[in-house]
Amino acid sequence: MPAKKTPRYLRRESRAVCTCCGSSLASGTIKRTLGLSYSSWGNERSITLDDLHTGRFRWACDRCLKEGLALPANPVKQLYCDHEPYLAYCDWKHACRSCKRSFIFTAAEQKHWYETLGFWVQSVPVRCPDCRKQLRRRKALNTELGELLKLKDPDASSLFRISAIYRVMGNEAKAKRYERLAKKIAT
Ligand SMILES: [Zn+2]
Ligand SMILES: [Zn+2]
Repeated sequence: MPAKKTPRYLRRESRAVCTCCGSSLASGTIKRTLGLSYSSWGNERSITLDDLHTGRFRWACDRCLKEGLALPANPVKQLYCDHEPYLAYCDWKHACRSCKRSFIFTAAEQKHWYETLGFWVQSVPVRCPDCRKQLRRRKALNTELGELLKLKDPDASSLFRISAIYRVMGNEAKAKRYERLAKKIAT
């Protein structure tokens, strides 16, 4: 009788821990995750114990899923190629690249990013919501400024607006210059 093959995860160290609570894998606590289908280089596959033991997947134990600490993920709806899909989402603490404060990328936000908006699974927010908002606002102002500066014969209100945008951007010299121009036209 041939010797029973040792499962791969017993042959080397297992890295299977719940992404959410950090508990290591115990039988019977991952029923909701095993069997989830995902595709690997175009082949339809389902999650096995071996997959979890590689430590490459982000998954959550049944208890975390049941208690709502983690949200179940649907790999079929995610966009991935050379990264593993999410099997569960769990609140995730990041440090903002701009203000350095830590912020939470919530499980619900993650599900929205990867399953509704269709972002690649490896993309993560590098800035906190406040800084992201500020950045979007700055970009919008930059675009508006570019359009205003293209005007061949700007009227007073356009010049006042240019001045105001420069002021928000911290360029006081230009803000003053355009304000003077605006006032000249207005009078
Ligand atoms: Zn857990
Ligand atoms: Zn920030």
